Amino acid sequence: MKTAIIGAGAAGCFCATILRRLNPEVQIDIYESGEKPLKKVAITGGGRCNLTNSFEEVKSLNQVYPRGYNLMKRLFRQFDHHDAMRWFEDEGVRLVIQDDHCVFPQSQDAMEIVSTLLRGMQGVKIHTCQRVKEITPCPPRNEVSDSAEEDSPSKTTRYRIDTDSHSEVYDHVVVTTGGSPKLSGLNFLSNLDLEIVPPVPSLFTFNIGERNEKTPITELMGVVANHVETGLAGTRFKSYGPLLITHWGMSGPAILKLSSHAARWLAENDYQATLYVNWMGGMSEEEIRNMLQQRMNENPKKQASTIHPLTQRLWNYLLMKTGISPECRCAEIGNKRLNKLAALLSNDNYSITGQSRYKEEFVTCGGVSLSNIDTNTLECKKHRGIYFAGEILDVDAVTGGFNLQAAWTMGYVVAQSIHTLPKSHPHNSK
Ligand SMILES: Cc1cc2nc3c(=O)[nH]c(=O)nc-3n(C[C@H](O)[C@H](O)[C@H](O)COP(=O)(O)OP(=O)(O)OC[C@H]3O[C@@H](n4cnc5c(N)ncnc54)[C@H](O)[C@@H]3O)c2cc1C
Repeated sequence: MKTAIIGAGAAGCFCATILRRLNPEVQIDIYESGEKPLKKVAITGGGRCNLTNSFEEVKSLNQVYPRGYNLMKRLFRQFDHHDAMRWFEDEGVRLVIQDDHCVFPQSQDAMEIVSTLLRGMQGVKIHTCQRVKEITPCPPRNEVSDSAEEDSPSKTTRYRIDTDSHSEVYDHVVVTTGGSPKLSGLNFLSNLDLEIVPPVPSLFTFNIGERNEKTPITELMGVVANHVETGLAGTRFKSYGPLLITHWGMSGPAILKLSSHAARWLAENDYQATLYVNWMGGMSEEEIRNMLQQRMNENPKKQASTIHPLTQRLWNYLLMKTGISPECRCAEIGNKRLNKLAALLSNDNYSITGQSRYKEEFVTCGGVSLSNIDTNTLECKKHRGIYFAGEILDVDAVTGGFNLQAAWTMGYVVAQSIHTLPKSHPHNSK
């Protein structure tokens, strides 16, 4: 049995490592279009590799996997974050769980994860600079005219892998080519006639106002509001968490999460939308009003700027947006302006005019539709012997280590599926 893995990324290399351990005899060839395996893993988490998450804050998987949460729920029964952490620790990687539940190697060096995986792949042939152009189902062996092939008793379909300079036939093919923000990146699958969910980017920041022009809010670049509720007006998309004001707009965990959940809706609306921000973490207008009233009553002679529930610069900006001078005494603000301020703090609106990359850390929403695969084994329903794992599938997550966890889980499941083919499977030669 020969196995080809297409793409030497997180899912492909983890699959190869597990399969190799399960069956050291199996021939595994990896085809990688780049010059090196695992080049993306090497830059994950800003070079520190946020390899998984403790999932402590995750009540339901759809919070973190906007696409594919049901699949991940099922697959985690086979290999979840505990298994991933144990696996890396057994390989000698010490891990740390940060206060925000993200898991990193203690060395804070993604290269430790890269070298651990490479060590596990000894004996696996990695063909670098080999972009796979086509996967073609070959007729069952005993129907091929080639005399050498005619001797084989098996009637299973095998698959020819073509690159520019190489062509070879395999029993199993594992497709782990990662996300592709363009549909053309999936052209190499065209012979397989699969259902594809059009890919669009996920995990991005929002541009506010005209590109290259500063707006009053972007003058505050660098300011963080730690607990906001933010959402897209007229939709059900909303998220919570810290928000960072940037050069061109808004970023930070709350925005990245929102961009992930609303990735397709935003693409369909050409990244034009109204963003609302509740600067007080989702408190109602009335609650905000009462809170401010109390502060003002307790400090009638103090300036409005001094009763700030937010960072000073942001607070002053919001006061001025309401028409209140930061120097105005609390006792002089009056009910009308207090109401206006409470309304603004609970529902401040900005025009999203586009999207920008977040530290190059984007993922793809869409790809090979989950309707093509067996959700227990990740095998293609139409083409037995072909498997999919990782971001190529229509599965993606918010930031926090969840995307790599999906790659480890799916890589593991495919290796197990290939190793333990049921007796009825056409590729089971036992
Ligand atoms: C800058 C950055 C930082 C990130 N940081 C984190 C993080 O800290 N934590 C986290 O959980 N997630 C992170 N992510 C997301 C995470 O890296 C991916 O979700 C994950 O790597 C997906 O794994 P994969 O194996 O599916 O694809 P990849 O790791 O992308 O691997 C796919 C491989 O296939 C190769 N390939 C593509 N097409 C072909 C072809 N036709 N023939 C041959 N080879 C091909 C590619 O060159 C690539 O090496 C980050 C992403 C980026 C871009």
